[in-house]
Amino acid sequence: MTPNNQPFWWEAAPPSTLPEMPVLTSCDVVIVGAGYTGLSAGLTLARMGRPVQIFDAMRPGEGASTRNGGIASGNLRPSRQELEKKFGAERAQAIAIESKAAREDLAQFIAAENIDCDFQIVGRFSGASHAGDYEKLAREADYLANTLGVEAFAVPRASQHAHLGTDFYHGGMVRMDIGGLHPAKLHAGMLAKAVEAGALIHGETPVKGIRRDGEGWEMETSRGVVKAGHMIVATNGYTDGVDPWLRRRLVPVRSRIIATTPLSDNMMADLMPKRHMLSETRKLHYYYRPSPDGRRVIFGGRDGTISGDPSWPTQSLKRAMVDIFPVLEDVEITHSWFGHVAMNRDMIPRIFSRNGLRYAAGYCGSGVVWARWAGQKAALQVLEDEAGVSSLDMRPPAAIPLYNGTPYFLPAMFAWYMLQDRMGKRG
Ligand SMILES: Cc1cc2nc3c(=O)[nH]c(=O)nc-3n(C[C@H](O)[C@H](O)[C@H](O)COP(=O)(O)OP(=O)(O)OC[C@H]3O[C@@H](n4cnc5c(N)ncnc54)[C@H](O)[C@@H]3O)c2cc1C
Repeated sequence: MTPNNQPFWWEAAPPSTLPEMPVLTSCDVVIVGAGYTGLSAGLTLARMGRPVQIFDAMRPGEGASTRNGGIASGNLRPSRQELEKKFGAERAQAIAIESKAAREDLAQFIAAENIDCDFQIVGRFSGASHAGDYEKLAREADYLANTLGVEAFAVPRASQHAHLGTDFYHGGMVRMDIGGLHPAKLHAGMLAKAVEAGALIHGETPVKGIRRDGEGWEMETSRGVVKAGHMIVATNGYTDGVDPWLRRRLVPVRSRIIATTPLSDNMMADLMPKRHMLSETRKLHYYYRPSPDGRRVIFGGRDGTISGDPSWPTQSLKRAMVDIFPVLEDVEITHSWFGHVAMNRDMIPRIFSRNGLRYAAGYCGSGVVWARWAGQKAALQVLEDEAGVSSLDMRPPAAIPLYNGTPYFLPAMFAWYMLQDRMGKRG
């Protein structure tokens, strides 16, 4: 059977078509993009009584925010050593502390707002893909436990099956501060809260042009011209030609997820006994998890295509899943979908501005925690609230040489990473 190309998550929480509201020709703040970033910023501003309009080219959430794996990791791609080298020990530590605060803040938000999104802090197992990676993971567990007070521990290969039903990894580590949720239900909950707070949200209304207008901004939308005192751009992996400057700085990379048909309770108990979220140390790594009801395997990784028939990337993802869990060889894939994550040159999520235009973007595949957090920070900065200060306030990401929106270099980059993964495997 051909898999459904829409996200599995949309069965329980499809993106909603909002009732068409009048577009106000002027308001205090305009936000472009109604994913987690834009909604979080809009909710923060609306609750502070600031008139805010949010525009999205698609149905709100139809970007990455209802398509992702729902792993609430607040991950940072660069290692702690890389962060220290780039920013110095103090700033690197501040970023690590902020990632912990952002994860905790998401949990508090979901509880306080009573958002029904199947959120559970089940911990995450990271598998050592190469023999040499186990020691690094064990050191990382020690750092998390000793410096950040996170419950984290190494899992030697001999006891791996207690956490994950595979011999594929050379042991791994578990950190218990990471959870899983239903991403589309989280988005639906945030959307409802933002509307309730008074944010005016216009779905299927692209912003087509942005100009400076005195101290503020003027933008052309598909439903007329709007003037605003402030603007936040929250378009991340879906950034289009409206902001060519931003587009040269963010690379949209396709990430694809497959979902299996429901499996037996026994099989799921063998494969994912602790219901952890799952990741690994390969450069081209896979991320996976049980579905919130614990019956399916949800398995994600790079797509590797930029257009065309989804059957090749679906099969390639299935092969990767079967490498880890050979028992899934004949299991049916019911869903296969993709979305865009936004990478930037140094792979660090950030909040930045240019001539007064504010941006929050570049979550590098870890926006469930970061996007909501960075959107909130960007809004607090508009409000000139000191709680808006963040260790993620940075210079804009560097432009990518010769890049203007077509990521011509991705196939070569993927091939290079794949080679490194293969060579590492030998060691
Ligand atoms: C397949 C996949 C799996 C992922 N898995 C995880 C995971 O397990 N854990 C994790 O933490 N993160 C994950 N992510 C990343 C996470 O989903 C994103 O980082 C996060 O959703 C970004 O939210 P956002 O609001 O910034 O952007 P988006 O949700 O992508 O929203 C951007 C919006 O901007 C709109 N837009 C663009 N241009 C315009 C315009 N000109 N006018 C109006 N609107 C415009 C788009 O229509 C879009 O709706 C995954 C992403 C994908 C694609």
